Amino acid sequence: MNFLRRRLSDSSFIANLPNGYMTDLQRPEPPQPPPPTGPDRRPTGQTAGGFFSSISNVVKQTAASAGLGEQNVGGPGRRSRVLLIIDDPHTDWAKCFRGKKLQGDYDIRIEQAEFSEINLVAHSDGTYAVDLQTFRNGAKVVRSFRPDFVFIRQHSFSMAENEDFRNLIIGMQYAGIPSVNSLESIYNFCDKPWVFAQLIAAYKTMGAEKFPLIDQTYYPNHKEMLAMPSFPVVVKIGHAHSGMGKVKIENHYDFQDIASVVALTQTYATTEPFVDSKYDIRIQKIGNNYKAYMRTSISGNWKTNTGSAMLEQVAMSDRYKLWVDTCSEIFGGLDICAVKVVHGKDGKDYIIEVMDCTMPVIGEHQAEDRQTIADLVVIKMNQALSKTPIPSPQRTTATTQPQSGMMKESELSKIPAQRPPPQGGPVQPQGLQTQNQERPSHVDTQRPPGQDLLPQNEPRMPSPTTVQKPPSIERMSSAARNTESQSRHQMEQPPKAAPHPQLNKSQSLTNAFNFTQSSFFRSSSNEDEAKADTIRNLRKSFASLFSE
Ligand code: ATP
Repeated sequence: MNFLRRRLSDSSFIANLPNGYMTDLQRPEPPQPPPPTGPDRRPTGQTAGGFFSSISNVVKQTAASAGLGEQNVGGPGRRSRVLLIIDDPHTDWAKCFRGKKLQGDYDIRIEQAEFSEINLVAHSDGTYAVDLQTFRNGAKVVRSFRPDFVFIRQHSFSMAENEDFRNLIIGMQYAGIPSVNSLESIYNFCDKPWVFAQLIAAYKTMGAEKFPLIDQTYYPNHKEMLAMPSFPVVVKIGHAHSGMGKVKIENHYDFQDIASVVALTQTYATTEPFVDSKYDIRIQKIGNNYKAYMRTSISGNWKTNTGSAMLEQVAMSDRYKLWVDTCSEIFGGLDICAVKVVHGKDGKDYIIEVMDCTMPVIGEHQAEDRQTIADLVVIKMNQALSKTPIPSPQRTTATTQPQSGMMKESELSKIPAQRPPPQGGPVQPQGLQTQNQERPSHVDTQRPPGQDLLPQNEPRMPSPTTVQKPPSIERMSSAARNTESQSRHQMEQPPKAAPHPQLNKSQSLTNAFNFTQSSFFRSSSNEDEAKADTIRNLRKSFASLFSE
């Protein structure tokens, strides 16, 4: 114990800690706040004096800086729920959620990170912890927290290198973290032909007139890619985004060439007739808020999401609404989705794809769309958390000691979280009979954000013939016009942390603090046991730290 005391008070030991670890130890001790008097008063371990007291303060400060423990923000009496948003730093989601509250006057604490910056551990008893390792303003940040809800904006799988995060989706599902869209639907969206199969089911039910899905052929591998009835065709290789892996093929020779490329990629491919297009249509649905956009290539690229294009909002028609509503039924329901359609010079529409909650917001109403999304997330959080028992720090236990180089276990709560509702039901196109194709049209942008998120009794979809508001026209450079995800990749980004960080000993030490801090918030009857736990865990950590 004396040795530990000497080490902790040794300024060179503190100074030699890596950046971001135990930062509180590296700062002068802040003035002690007055003892809390509000209802959230917790045992703090202050009864113990001397060395134990100083350790407990270190533990509490480190845990607090890690965003753990009581999850109180804004002072005594303020409680919060943690919303993990998977997105790049380009979009400041904290700004979109500013001032929003959950039922019960809970604040929403935003943790925004990219998939590559997080890791997690989940246990079958419902406990879990997410680890975040990233750089913020040039400083390394390492945190562990327990998200109450997750909102995913980043593709969880792409064929680009290091862009397979399905293991994290599985982990979140394993942990039972509620999310928008459902984690099951997000996992199902990891293969485009798998999603297209759902559209085929809708096409079979509704017919080509009501649901004009493009003809498509699926090849599990290159072996059957022998001939095409007509050209040109578009070959789409594997599960790639932003125009990647899409090739226009003019003849048999080129088709054989591309088949040989597919052979190398060791993945599936699809082919569809090339539509000589006038423009693309994108119909988006955020809760019950609908918008449609027309995108016309001005750089001549057949892929309107590559090069320069003109974007303008168009009237939301019953037909468009039917398509997006139908698509929103797949995989048990998509709260956020968009349908992509190619409008040919032959005057016909061809539905080519549905996007999920990772769909980029586009056009001049991006800020409004983000607010609408934030309102929807709050509604979904309220729904999910009202069914979830409130995690209580008093019920936490510190158990497993993290091993060097492994994920730590942060048992902040032993209470199982709300699991998403059962998913994966068959496609059930709705409202086919109730659709009125002749209603007057308007651009659905005049409602305040959030108002459209609640179910509407009356269909208010107009016909495409009249537009109350003139469409806004955006001229976009190739960077600006492209989707958020594309522009994100063009942004300068902070150095990325490895997806599975190998924790060094200092991290193990921090981990130990994260664990043991929970024991400080136990009820006073458990205080002695908590102290004993803490001492035991600290002993193990320090033993491994100094033994070599
Ligand atoms: P995402 O980034 O949404 O995952 P993607 O952009 O990689 O998808 P698609 O949307 O299928 O892939 O194709 C990109 C663009 O290529 C479309 O926006 C459209 O302009 C054009 N396109 C796709 N399929 C066809 C087709 N069969 N005929 C003509 N143009 C097409």
